[in-house]
Amino acid sequence: FQPSRPSDAVDGALQVVGAHFRLDEIEVETVFEADLPEVLCRQDQLEQVIINLLQNARDAINERRARTGEHVAGHIVVRVEQADGPGAPDAVMIEVADNGGGIPDKVAERIFQPFFTTKPPGKGTGLGLSVSFGIVRDHGGSLSVRNGPEGAIFTIRLPARAPVA
Ligand code: ADP
Ligand code: MG
Repeated sequence: FQPSRPSDAVDGALQVVGAHFRLDEIEVETVFEADLPEVLCRQDQLEQVIINLLQNARDAINERRARTGEHVAGHIVVRVEQADGPGAPDAVMIEVADNGGGIPDKVAERIFQPFFTTKPPGKGTGLGLSVSFGIVRDHGGSLSVRNGPEGAIFTIRLPARAPVA
């Protein structure tokens, strides 16, 4: 585990998948709050989690396009910000929000289970979110999901690295 800026993992993930998203006409917007604390992480693992979330967001958008027959303008926002709650240690939140239409409650209950997928065979293994959940937990953080007005919003929450005295 190395000290690193959480925005670097986002940039690293986008270098891996960014070109594919442009081909699919999905715009990925990044919003990085200023003066973010560092986190202690394995940056390759954190990048893998963000890649998994981005690929799910793209699948959701493409599925919405297929379902509605409309070429929805794909939009994903990756937001990194500091979170500090009363009594809780400082944390960093990495949020991935898409406009793929969201997750029905019945599905949302199961998405972190290994091998749960709603995708056709060959398209999904159902492992992305369970592996991601484990990685974030191994970093002392949490991975959660909620539905926003346009689609799913996944939040990675990681403890901020204590400032060196
Ligand atoms: P896979 O992508 O192989 O299906 P995951 O563990 O990554 O496996 O995701 C599990 C399921 O969660 C998906 O099949 C899908 O039904 C749901 N899901 C994940 N991310 C999203 C999203 N951004 N929008 C809607 N549904 C999602
Ligand atoms: Mg997946």
